[in-house]
Order: sequence, then structure tokens, then C-alpha cells
Amino acid sequence: MPASAHEAKSASAKAKPTKQKAPAKPLGDKFAKLGLRSEMDFVLHLPMRYEDETEIVPMRDAAMRGGSSAQIEGIITDCEIQYRPRRQLVVTIADETAQVVLRFLNFYGSQTKQMAVGNRVRARSEVRHGFFGAEMVHPHYKMVIEGAPLPSALTPVYHAGDGVSQTLLRKAIKVALDKLHWHDTLSAARLSKLKLIGFEEAVKFLHNPPPDADQHSLLSRHHPAWQRMKFDELLAQQLSLKRAQAARRAKGATALSVVGELCNAFMMSLPFALTNAQERVLAELRRDLKQNYPMQRLLQGDVGSGKTIVAALAAAQAIDSGFQAALMAPTEILADQHFRKIAAWLAPLGITTAWLTGSLKAKEKREAQALIASGEAQLVIGTHALIQDAVQFAKLGLIIVDEQHRFGVAQRLSLRNKGGSNNSGGNLLHNAQGHIPHQLMMSATPIPRTLAMTYYADLEVSVIDELPPGRTPIVTRVVDQTRREEVIERVHAAALEGKQVYWVCPLIEESEALQLQTATDTHAMLSAALPDLRVGLVHGRLKPAEKQAVMGAFTENQLQVLVATTVIEVGVDVPNASLMVIEHAERFGLSQLHQLRGRVGRGAAASVCLLLYQGPLGGTAKERLRTMRESNDGFAIARKDLQLRGPGEFLGARQSGEAMLRFANLDSDQDLVEQARQLASELLATDPATVAAHLQRWMGHREEFLRV
Ligand code: ADP
Ligand code: MG
Repeated sequence: MPASAHEAKSASAKAKPTKQKAPAKPLGDKFAKLGLRSEMDFVLHLPMRYEDETEIVPMRDAAMRGGSSAQIEGIITDCEIQYRPRRQLVVTIADETAQVVLRFLNFYGSQTKQMAVGNRVRARSEVRHGFFGAEMVHPHYKMVIEGAPLPSALTPVYHAGDGVSQTLLRKAIKVALDKLHWHDTLSAARLSKLKLIGFEEAVKFLHNPPPDADQHSLLSRHHPAWQRMKFDELLAQQLSLKRAQAARRAKGATALSVVGELCNAFMMSLPFALTNAQERVLAELRRDLKQNYPMQRLLQGDVGSGKTIVAALAAAQAIDSGFQAALMAPTEILADQHFRKIAAWLAPLGITTAWLTGSLKAKEKREAQALIASGEAQLVIGTHALIQDAVQFAKLGLIIVDEQHRFGVAQRLSLRNKGGSNNSGGNLLHNAQGHIPHQLMMSATPIPRTLAMTYYADLEVSVIDELPPGRTPIVTRVVDQTRREEVIERVHAAALEGKQVYWVCPLIEESEALQLQTATDTHAMLSAALPDLRVGLVHGRLKPAEKQAVMGAFTENQLQVLVATTVIEVGVDVPNASLMVIEHAERFGLSQLHQLRGRVGRGAAASVCLLLYQGPLGGTAKERLRTMRESNDGFAIARKDLQLRGPGEFLGARQSGEAMLRFANLDSDQDLVEQARQLASELLATDPATVAAHLQRWMGHREEFLRV
């Protein structure tokens, strides 16, 4: 609908000789929002699909084709504003074969004037059978004179945005296509070897395909023109990937090569044996840390798969090698839990661990900073306060980021710069210049590998794909909230058996105040309903010390029921808790539900998760709850989530930049990926000029960003 309004407006504007040009700057800003800045940006803004405006269909045929789209042209025979059932503009047009009604529910006064009887109009839309015969509702249209030429190519439809209409985009792209200094980054010999068509030919074809072009191969992107674009894009990805790898290797880090006393003592002191998956991942980390260039590894593992201990063992290697390790968590609760647990493991082995969060008093903060700066603290655990400017590490060798997807881009950047600041900042790292810490990121939101590669230029991935033994799978039930009383009874029964219970309050995105209120109310309600139990409450607005006190009491089984907001979503580990109730589960995202549910099922007792919902449920909400009921597998759930939400939102990447791949797909374009990989190696070895030109064309400003 907006498109038709724009077209109509610009069509009428065209008729006036005094047409005002839109002021250049705001429009430029709007284009920039779509990522369109340079000529090449416009040229590479390829159509999503096409409309066929190359032929006029006689109205009688159009009417018979009811339901499908057609373009018709005729003389206006009637134009009136009707008021029933609501105000609308009704225009009748006719050609030699039949007549069709055009119906506009929203219209401008100027349109009423345009539609004078006797004027000629060209309209395009789906034809429907209305009460008075064939009609089009809100067609795209323009006023024409008899014999006005038809386009000779299919009309491209672009991804447009706020304030940027198709018409504006088409014009701007046409200008760019005309002005561009065409140059193919691939030589004719290479193209013929790869059986690809030329760049200019491919681009021009995609923007203006002739009427007889095979629309199917255009839409499915199998057309040779698309193959060329996809190949170029994949080549750019491979080049930038390899370059990022090379740059990382060139940076240099200190090899943390000692797996010594601490590692061994720590391993011996563990109350359990590592799973095979943990062993495998630990071996990958050990090997990486021994390299003299910085590791950049993402450790993925389902909730409860035991990532923490693997990370702690990696930290032990850094310490054994004479360096510091830092562990950063996204919430105070989680950082606190890591601190208690890991410090308890390591303190008996003579290791000093410092604790640093934003909520420390100034004096405590100074003390922690002093421990870190002197190197006395071999391990530092905290929130993102760790990467703030005032913190100077004596010799940081490894930084571990837990639940890394919870950190914003700014924080990830600052982390990277923290490493880099060693270049200028003197002695953050031991002796050698330019050394930066190894980096281990952890996430329980498993990203399919191909997707990770679409978004991150240079990241190795390790996967823990096995849960520690002795866990009984969590049973998940979806329960209508009208059965709350029964649920409360169930909580009571579980507590009497010595089990602990989480009660998660609904997510209220619009209002944090309301969310807190609900949590407080729920706490009061449960305390009243369960007078013989001790019920605690934790939420984001508690002071850190209060939070710690509540979490500590729950961990030590002094509280049987913990009413909580989503502050407990990530990481919290209380193995004796085996019942979880989530209220208004329909409001949560799939990955979030899985994370929350992961707070139970951590001990040997059979665990249950009750998802309370309020009906009626929409289609997606129903799908989410069904998935939760049917699956405990984080990877399967992540795939489903991805499918329901789309990759941008899934990765939280919407604000953090575009995916590196817009056209190609790492799964379905395997052959092209392989060819691109080979050519990338060859070009990097022999042809730096082509590498530079190709990357400039495809990555522009994006490459740097994607390395974060
Ligand atoms: P996540 O991967 O979600 O961060 P954690 O590291 O918190 O999981 O581990 C979950 C629980 O499993 C912890 O209580 C931890 O001590 C325990 N755990 C980890 N590895 C093993 C193992 N190999 N055998 C038994 N328990 C383990
Ligand atoms: Mg964890």
C-alpha cells in the first residue's frame, strides 16, 4: 500500500514542471540506513524479486485470470467517492474488451482530480471478483498518454526502507549503473575456468532482466547471473576470513605452554571425571594456548554441559605458565557464582583470585585493582567492570567471556582493544611487544557452524555435545494457568520431599516497574499459600549484596522456593533445584525458555519444568511451547528458534552489523564455497592487487566490524 501511494505521488509530481528535488542530505541519510553509500553499494543492492510490467493484458483476459496479478490500461469512465461501507474512491476504467473497477480505501484529494473521466490510466495488481465484477484494490498505477512505451525489462523490486520508495531506489540505482567505472576483479581466463559470466553483465542482467528471462531461476538464485554474484560474495568472505586469520597470527600472543603443577593438582581434586566431550575440547584449548598467536575460540555447549570447569582448567594453564587469567560474566549473580565456585576450587591450591564488579565500594575496587596490577591475583573474576579503563593487568594471558552473546558489541570491542592496548600501554603483557591475550568465549546458545561463519570472520568453534553422566532428562509440561492451584500444591509436595523450586515470573518487556511489581506480588502470594516453606525473592533491582545473600541462601538450601525474574536466566547452578515453574511462558523466546529450564536437571534427581501459559495462544507461541515440551536438545531448539526468528534477531546481530553474506548460503552453495576457497588461497599467494580490489568492492566498511 505505501508503495502505491509513493508511486502515485511521484507519478503526479512528474507531471508538474516545477518539481522540487528532495533535499540531498536527508535522502542520503535514508539511503545510508539501508547501507547504501557508494556507487558500488547501490549497484550491489540487488532485487529481491521482479514485477512484470512489460505487457498489457486485455481487461477481459485479466478478469478471467482472477486471483493472479496483471497489468491493464484503459480510459476512466467513472470516478466517484462512495461512503458505504466506508469512505472510498471508486474508479471505473474500460478498454475495448471489458471494464474493471479500481478501489482506493485511502486516497488523497489530488488523486480524485487525476482520475478525471476521460484520462488514461495504467494499473497493476491482483484482479479480484467483487460484487460489481472484476476489480483491483489499491493497485499500483500511473497516469499515461495513449501509446506510452512499456518497460522492456522486468521491473526490479528492491529491499526498501523508511522514506525510500521503490521509485527513488530504482532511479538512484540506475544513476549508479550508468556512472560506475566498470571493472571486473576476475580476469577473463579465470572466469572461463570457473564457468562464470562477467561482473558487469551479471549485475546489469539482475537489475534489468529481459521479459523472457526465466523468473524461476532468478528467484531461486540459480541463474548464472546470481551464481556470479554469489561466487564474488563468497570469495570476499574467504579472503577476509583468511586475512583475518593471518592478521591474528601476525599479532602474536604469549605461548601459555606449561601444563604443570596447578593443572595436575586441579584435575586431581575434581570430584568427577571429565566427559569425553570436555576432554576433547580441553585438548583443543591446550593446543591453542600453546601457540604464540592469540586464540579466538567460541566454546558452545548446551546448558549444564559443563563449560565452566573446562574454562577453569584453561585458566590453570595460563597460571601455570606464569600469566593471569580473567573470567568475565554478564551478570553479577553469575560472576558471583563463578567466583565462589572457582575460588573454592583453586584457593586450596594456593591461587589468589580477585573479584571485581561495578558495585564494589571505591576502596574495595582500589584494592582489587591493586591486586590485579601487581600480578598478585593470578585469576580475576567479575563483570564487564573488568574491561574498564582503570583496570591494568600485570600480565594477562587469557581472557574468558562467559555467555558472550549477552555482551553488547561495544563491550566486545572494548575487550578486543584491551588486548590491543598492550601495544601502546607498556607492560600489560609480559615482555614481548604487541602481545595480546588469548580469548575464550562461551555460549549456551548454540549457533549452527555455518551460521557462525556467516557472521564472524575469524572464530574457531569448539563444541561440548555431551552432558555429564547421571542426569535424568527434564520432563516438561505445558499447563493452562487456570490450574495454578494444582501447580502450587505440586510445589508444596516437591519441597516436602526436600527438592528446591524456582518460580519464574513473567517477562514484561514494556515495563520493568510492572515486572518488579509482579515478582513482589508473586512472592507475597506464594509465601501466603505456602506458610510452612521458606520462599525467597530475587530480581534485578536488588542491591548486589542482597542478591548475593538470597542466592547464597538458596544454594545452601535455606530457601525451598525462589521466586525470580529472568536474572537467573543464565548460568545459575544449584543442582538440588529440580522443579521449575515459568509463568506466562508464552511471552518468552525459545532460547530463553531453554536457558531458564537449564537451571534444573543439574543433579541426579528427576526434574520437572512446568510452563504455565495464558490462552489463547498465537501460532508461533504454540510452536515454541510444543518445541519445549518435545525437546531437551539445545541444538535442535536453537535451530527451531532460528527458523522462527530469522538469523539477525537470533544472534542479536540486528544492531551489530550485517551478515557477511547477503546472497550466498553456506549450506546450499557448497560447490561455490569450495571454488571460492581455492581461488582465495591462490589470490592471496599471488595477486594482492586483486585481493584488495575484490575486498574493497564487497566488504567496504564492513570487514573491520565483523572481526569483533
Ligand atoms: P554450563 O555448561 O551450563 O556452564 P556448568 O559448567 O555450570 O554448565 O556445569 C553444570 C554442572 O555440572 C555443574 O554443577 C558442574 O560442576 C557439573 N559438571 C561439570 N562437568 C561434569 C562432569 N564431567 N561430571 C559431572 N558433573 C559435572
Ligand atoms: Mg555456564
